[in-house]
Amino acid sequence: MDFQDTEELAAFRSEVKTWLAANATRRTDKRHIGMEGETPFREAKEWYRKKAEAGFACLTWPKEYGGAGLTPVHEVVWQQEVENYLTRDAQFVIGIGNCGPAIMHFASEEARRELLPRMASAEDVWCQLFSEPSAGSDVAGLRTRAERDGDNWKINGQKIWTSGAQYSDYGVILTRSDPTVSKYRGLTLFMIDMRQSGVQVRPIKQMDGGQHFNEVFFQDAIVPDAYRLGEIGGGWTGALTVLMSERLAISGIQPTGFPQFLDLVKSLELNGRPIADDPLVRDRLATWYSQYAGLQASYKRMITAVAKGGIAGAEASLGKLVGAVMNQEIANFCCQLLGPAGIIQDPALSPERAHFQDSVLFSPGVRLAGGTDEVMRNILAEQVLGLPQEPRADKGIAFEDIPTGPVD
Ligand SMILES: Cc1cc2nc3c(=O)[nH]c(=O)nc-3n(C[C@H](O)[C@H](O)[C@H](O)COP(=O)(O)OP(=O)(O)OC[C@H]3O[C@@H](n4cnc5c(N)ncnc54)[C@H](O)[C@@H]3O)c2cc1C
Repeated sequence: MDFQDTEELAAFRSEVKTWLAANATRRTDKRHIGMEGETPFREAKEWYRKKAEAGFACLTWPKEYGGAGLTPVHEVVWQQEVENYLTRDAQFVIGIGNCGPAIMHFASEEARRELLPRMASAEDVWCQLFSEPSAGSDVAGLRTRAERDGDNWKINGQKIWTSGAQYSDYGVILTRSDPTVSKYRGLTLFMIDMRQSGVQVRPIKQMDGGQHFNEVFFQDAIVPDAYRLGEIGGGWTGALTVLMSERLAISGIQPTGFPQFLDLVKSLELNGRPIADDPLVRDRLATWYSQYAGLQASYKRMITAVAKGGIAGAEASLGKLVGAVMNQEIANFCCQLLGPAGIIQDPALSPERAHFQDSVLFSPGVRLAGGTDEVMRNILAEQVLGLPQEPRADKGIAFEDIPTGPVD
């Protein structure tokens, strides 16, 4: 696909540039801005509201659902321009990037028109309630129960690692509605109101000091049947839509640390000479540059496929795997490169506003979120290389008959 601007795209780019210049603060460095806490949350809501009013929210969504009705290439143009500004443009990616496409596909028309425009403008914030204490990589092994109760469903159980649940108005939740069939067939997906009394959210403290994710407990929480996404027992299909959209959304914002590394290398000296003359640094520079360039190329390939009506393929898993590993390796290497200064985590004192020190503490989580390295490798092995599937000992067995330790 040709990524040169057509006349129409050039006009769009110029419109975006003008609007950003008038409404956002231009970047002076490449640091990531923190996303945690009340202030970033409020600033992000304000940013999304402004974008929506200007017609720049959810560019690829249909207009009737709060979007702009444009193409993925317009989205690329937006991303290229917005990264020059200090904005909170990716703050609500879980709702808009992961949950939104599943709602668009599986919700009733009434629910779509009610909920999606409020998601697009961040009037409502959403979270993704999949992982449980004993079901992360093997998410289809989850135990949160959904039981039919007239026109409603009653939800009981526990989720964990739910990013942003403490700020969320709604969530997309994967539940077990039938334990008597095999594990992939007994799941049902819903949209749930997080502000009801049957939902309790407890933030988890991380090693970097933040509270990005949460434990969420459900005790007789109520979901109307009108908020079901897809068929009863068809939740796995909906869950795959969420997970595939998640990988596409992550690929667009996956931190690699490379632009910050390049800036650091340009600014440091070793024994009176530019540090870029050091053979070890040159070796790392070459390795990470080629990985970074490869990631950019695969991202463009993926956007091309999506723009032609296809879906994000295994490139998304490749981008996640390579980008997350590289991000952690770069953070560790740069802190060593800085010598004793590598342990100073003060943004006013450290190069790149302590980006690498922050990243040493958060980058391990990036390798887990959205699927671990091993899970990405399994996907690539099975779907790209055509290797045999992992042996699945629970295949064809009713979920309730799968041997397990004590639960509940
Ligand atoms: C920052 C962050 C944000 C998150 N946000 C959310 C969220 O918003 N919503 C949500 O639902 N979840 C979220 N998660 C949870 C995330 O999806 C899980 O952590 C992830 O899927 C791994 O599951 P687990 O932690 O239970 O690890 P486990 O699945 O228990 O894995 C433990 C180890 O075993 C390995 N392993 C597991 N299965 C295999 C296999 N088949 N082959 C080889 N190795 C294997 C794993 O790679 C890992 O190293 C988040 C996690 C993080 C770190």
